[in-house]
Amino acid sequence: AAYPADGATVDDILKNVDNAMYFAKQSGKNCWKFYDTDMQAAAYEKMLLTNNLHRAVANKEFSLHYQPQVSIATGAIVGFEALLRWRTPENGDIPPTRFIPVAEQSGLIKVIGTRVLHEACQFARRLTDSGRGNLCVAVNVSPHQLCADGFIESVDDALRAAGISPSRLEIEITENAVIASLQEAISRLETLRGMGVRLTLDDFGTGYSSLTYLQRLPVQTLKIDKSFIDRILDTGANKTIICTIVDMAHQLDMTVVAEGEETAEQLAYLAGSRCDLAQGYLFSRPAPEEEAVGLLPPL
Ligand code: C2E
Ligand code: MG
Ligand code: MG
Repeated sequence: AAYPADGATVDDILKNVDNAMYFAKQSGKNCWKFYDTDMQAAAYEKMLLTNNLHRAVANKEFSLHYQPQVSIATGAIVGFEALLRWRTPENGDIPPTRFIPVAEQSGLIKVIGTRVLHEACQFARRLTDSGRGNLCVAVNVSPHQLCADGFIESVDDALRAAGISPSRLEIEITENAVIASLQEAISRLETLRGMGVRLTLDDFGTGYSSLTYLQRLPVQTLKIDKSFIDRILDTGANKTIICTIVDMAHQLDMTVVAEGEETAEQLAYLAGSRCDLAQGYLFSRPAPEEEAVGLLPPL
């Protein structure tokens, strides 16, 4: 940062140097950045979001929506993914892709994530109580959450409070969640597996997609990222990649979910690739509980 453009006082300039350093760290470290006003805007926005998140936790501004997962072979709904929604009084809905990273950085993800686990397990319980059988409910867990103190206990609490079998709960993690501390992540995932919780590797194909992870992570389900489904009809190469992922996963005894199908053509192709489950707007957007339950066949 330089005088006078980036500040009139030493304090201001040092504050902006700090902003620039923060951005350099976020851009993968080992690099340098000049301060610019966009950084200040981003830092300001983050501060506002963090403050609002604190308030949101206190005021219960969060809710869960549920998106069905459908068997491609039979068309039956086999479970739901719980997706977090935040409705603010001042700015309406803020998407999770914007607030989850801020919740992670501020540590708030722990209380938010615990509530999500509780609410999702209670939803599974209500499904059983209303005669909907034993459908699974999937919950997303982010990197800090998985490795935070007390995570396993909070999963156990949520299962016990709802009185459901652990096999009704599916925990979705991404490769990013395990990369930072692989050993710790694997050991936690193994504990969850031992408890009977189901595990899914989400957004497969977007990160390193390392075969080592596939071999070492005790996951039973692989979710192919939407970006592959978007391009499925583009070229023969895309089709080959999807078929290969499906075959590989099946050989490893995993179930394969394709995420984000929006057209019947995409679904028809997936059926031919022997993919097991589909979850996309074609069937339903994530919806509030009542609407999601309404998608199930009448009792
Ligand atoms: P994800 O776990 O990969 O969830 C799938 C996202 O794709 C959801 O976005 C869903 O609404 C969207 N989607 C599903 N089908 C379609 C489709 O056909 N077309 C399009 N355009 N989109 C589709 P959403 O709800 O905005 O969530 C985004 C991400 O935020 C999630 O990605 C997940 O990583 C994160 N997230 C959501 N809820 C939670 C939560 O409770 N805890 C944590 N840690 N992360 C969450
Ligand atoms: Mg997910
Ligand atoms: Mg995904």
